[in-house]
Amino acid sequence: MLSKRGRGAASLLWGSNLGDRPANLASAREAIRAAAGPILNTSAVYRTEAWGKTDQPEFLNQVVEVETDLDPEALLETLMDIERQMGRERSERWAPRTIDLDILYYGQDVVQTARLMLPHPGIPDRRFTLVPLAEIAPDFVHPQYGKTNQQLLRACYDLLTVREYF
Ligand code: AMP
Repeated sequence: MLSKRGRGAASLLWGSNLGDRPANLASAREAIRAAAGPILNTSAVYRTEAWGKTDQPEFLNQVVEVETDLDPEALLETLMDIERQMGRERSERWAPRTIDLDILYYGQDVVQTARLMLPHPGIPDRRFTLVPLAEIAPDFVHPQYGKTNQQLLRACYDLLTVREYF
C-alpha cells in the first residue's frame, strides 16, 4: 500500500537465537529506522521454536511495518548490510548469525527474482511469522492468495510453539 507521499509500506520479520537476543532485536530496529525509515507498527516479541532445523535454541521473533523510500531491491540490500554488520560485530564472541531479517510484504508488490521473492514464500507455512503478522495486520490481504493474514494463520498447519515473550 502506498501512502500519500508515495512511500512504500513494508512488513519485516526479524529474529535472533544467539547472544543477547533482545539487544539484537533492538539494534536491528535502530539500524533499520536509520537506514530505511520510520517504524509505524510493532508486534509483541514472541518466543518461537526453531523452524526447519529444530535442534537449536528457540528464537525471539517480531514483525514491524516500516515506511520507506527505498524500493524493494534497495530495502533488501539494506537489510543484508545490517545482517552483515551485526554478524561481524558478534562473530568473535558469539556465532556468526545473531540476526535474521526478512521482507514479508512490500505493499501489494509481487516480485519473483533469484534474489528477492515477495511476498516472502514462507509466510503461509510459518506460525512464527503469521502470529505476529496477524497481531499487527490481521486484515492485510496476501496479494497472491487473496487471503488475510488472519485467514492464513487459521489455515496454517505448522505446530511449532509460538509464545508471547514481551
Ligand atoms: P536467509 O538469510 O535464510 O533469510 O536468506 C537470505 C537470502 O534470501 C538472501 O540471499 C536474499 O537474496 C533471499 N531472499 C529472497 N526473498 C527474500 C525476502 N523476501 N526477504 C529476505 N531475503 C530474501
